[in-house]
Amino acid sequence: SAKQQGKNCYAIFNSQMRQKSQNRLQLETDLRYAWEQQDFLVYYQPVVCLQTHQIVGFEALIRWQHPTKGWISPYQFIPVTEETGLIIPLGYWVLKTACNQLKAWTQISPKMQHLMMSVNLSSRQIQDYNFVEKINQVLTETQINPQNLKLEITETILMEKPEDVKEKLIQIRAQNIQLSLDDFGTGYSSLSYLHNFPINTLKIDRSFITRMNFNPENAAVVQAIITLAHTLGMDVIAEGIEKAEHLERLQALECEYGQGYLFSKPVSAIKAEQLLGSQQFWME
Ligand code: C2E
Ligand code: MG
Ligand code: MG
Ligand code: MG
Repeated sequence: SAKQQGKNCYAIFNSQMRQKSQNRLQLETDLRYAWEQQDFLVYYQPVVCLQTHQIVGFEALIRWQHPTKGWISPYQFIPVTEETGLIIPLGYWVLKTACNQLKAWTQISPKMQHLMMSVNLSSRQIQDYNFVEKINQVLTETQINPQNLKLEITETILMEKPEDVKEKLIQIRAQNIQLSLDDFGTGYSSLSYLHNFPINTLKIDRSFITRMNFNPENAAVVQAIITLAHTLGMDVIAEGIEKAEHLERLQALECEYGQGYLFSKPVSAIKAEQLLGSQQFWME
């Protein structure tokens, strides 16, 4: 009967829901334990000048190897840490680790003094009441040149509490720290708000780069984004460059920088240092 079927549906729905919330609770528990055990790592992906192919900096990306499930993607666990609040201490740990690494690399040789380090921020971190003080504290502790630090934020963060966020970003910029707008083009915001925020760099989302070669319209969109950024005095990083054709097209469009598997995946600090030493990695 329909009633019976409804009951079955309810039972299935219920057990799926239960499974889901159990998995979720387990993930929260595992993350809290991983934090206590200091199980997280920071990997580094080169940011490359598209004209010279030299490494101009790195993006710090968190990594977590679960004791039984193996590597878990940040796309999967960062949202959980945002909901539980763990992202606050975890985010500062990534920032501090990346700044200490930057400090070490810039001291290797005078050639490294302009090396950039980019660190991703969550909205929870920016909303933290003493966000600006904590960033300043990291600068003091690690003694890096603030000009070598870039903080990556997303369009969503800008749209959530525009006035509050803008105020904090202005204070960050006043310290000479740079700001990038990550995953540009994936948000729902209009372009007109862009000039309201003190952004230095636009990062074109990987999805645009991937689709660029399939039809001329997608390439035109990338062209338009680059032109817009340059008009607003920003430079551009293309994310997700995987093919030589992507690189050629982006060079022709006068995109300054790029990241992607064509150059290098995110790697450990030791491997990143080797890449810096060789500076020929992109030909391999
Ligand atoms: P994101 O900031 O946009 O970082 C770029 C992502 O694209 C990284 O994924 C990187 O490994 C991947 N990627 C780079 N080049 C290529 C390519 O050529 N092809 C493909 N398919 N992928 C490429 P990852 O490391 O898995 O990080 C995913 C996201 O998790 C990041 O996206 C960022 O939003 C977030 N995330 C990572 N680390 C942190 C962190 O320390 N703090 C915060 N708040 N978020 C983080
Ligand atoms: Mg990023
Ligand atoms: Mg991105
Ligand atoms: Mg992304």
